[in-house]
Amino acid sequence: MRRRTAAAATLAAALTLTIAAPAPAAPAAPRPSPGSEPTLAAKLIGRQALAANDGWAAEGAGITGGATATADRVRVVRTRAELVAALGGDNTTNATDATPKIVYVAGTIDGFEGPDGTPLGCADLADPEYSLPAYLAAYDPAVWGRVNPSGPLEAARVRSVATQTAQTQINVGSNTTIVGLRGAKLTGLTLMIDRVANVIVRNLEFSDARDCFPAWSPTDGDTGNWNSQYDQISVRRSEHVWVDHNTFTDGDNPDDAQPLYFGRPWQVHDGSLDVTHTASLVTASWNRFVGRDKLMLIGSSNTVGPDVGRLRVTVRHNLFDGDLQRLPRVRFGQVDVHENHYRLGGAGFEYALGVGVQSAIHAENNFFTLADDVDPADLIHDWGGTALTERGSWVRRGDRLPRPVDLRAAYNAVHDPDLGGDAGWTPTLRAAPPLPTPLVPLAVDAWAGAGRLPL
Ligand code: CA
Ligand code: CA
Repeated sequence: MRRRTAAAATLAAALTLTIAAPAPAAPAAPRPSPGSEPTLAAKLIGRQALAANDGWAAEGAGITGGATATADRVRVVRTRAELVAALGGDNTTNATDATPKIVYVAGTIDGFEGPDGTPLGCADLADPEYSLPAYLAAYDPAVWGRVNPSGPLEAARVRSVATQTAQTQINVGSNTTIVGLRGAKLTGLTLMIDRVANVIVRNLEFSDARDCFPAWSPTDGDTGNWNSQYDQISVRRSEHVWVDHNTFTDGDNPDDAQPLYFGRPWQVHDGSLDVTHTASLVTASWNRFVGRDKLMLIGSSNTVGPDVGRLRVTVRHNLFDGDLQRLPRVRFGQVDVHENHYRLGGAGFEYALGVGVQSAIHAENNFFTLADDVDPADLIHDWGGTALTERGSWVRRGDRLPRPVDLRAAYNAVHDPDLGGDAGWTPTLRAAPPLPTPLVPLAVDAWAGAGRLPL
């Protein structure tokens, strides 16, 4: 902190000198404020590749993002419009812009910013024929029954979703690095990484990727559920993606502040980092996920098809702080979950590791700090899988001393059918030998999340 303060003082002194100098004849450019221009360190980080062997994203050709960008494709962006411009100029076609590019985010960018920067509300995005009161009246299970909504109001909702998607889903092309400058935040938007390769996202705070038009799914669960369309980052049909040193929250719009409709929570949020639709070779490192519900879904369908052999993800050195489920939930993929710190418990907690159909989770040296209400036997949830490799876990529950716990044995002791102990593969893409588990929370709590990289 002291070093940063000194740097800020130096910068402030430099600005003061600039201002004290004789005024130039031309109109002054907007005065830069701290965090608005890339420092030398930020410039180095913008061009940094993922280290060799550092998780699944490093496989094969590895990942460089926008490291080779020419000067005209290195931008600092402060608004949604500038972000879209830096990613290629047109949100409807930016996914196909494969020119190497580095995008520095300064300050807060809100996906709901209209073309002139004015914030839009949900009413601005709604189809003229959609209204929530009419929707609730039409599809109340007491009236409509427990079948999927259909008809004009549902069609109007779907049109509204399309309008919101065009506004708040920001499409990212291949060969891109996005780095947040100090304090940078992306709120009310989704980074969509679909049908591309070689993307790096670092040092950003993601908050409140909210859906204005959640869908009613009457047969989801025992009594139906509202579901949101929007993740904070979605990775689909893509490979070589590195998501590093970011913070994910619901901002000032937490799930527990939402109303109930049809007796179920109005769910305006979906995943933080969902990897689906045959995506693969993703590394998520040093991220901080705070107070979120459906966190990381790896594989979205039980269909035995093109996901087989894909969905390979490394999840290392992340802090899962007060999250409820999917930490991660896995289908099909070989997923290496190592040296993460989980702080879990309290209202709504469901599970950490979701063992889904044909999943192959290798969980190693993870540390679980649990509230008294969480039984270590419930950290694993079986979603139709058969086995996971799990070793080196430590648990600190309530005020008790930390101790090694065989989570799989604890699970098997109280749940059936038992899960086997061999996921069928051993990770080789590791940049360093694992830390002893008791050291994991020290390292992760200090270094995970936005604002920790030296820039
Ligand atoms: Ca999702
Ligand atoms: Ca059992």
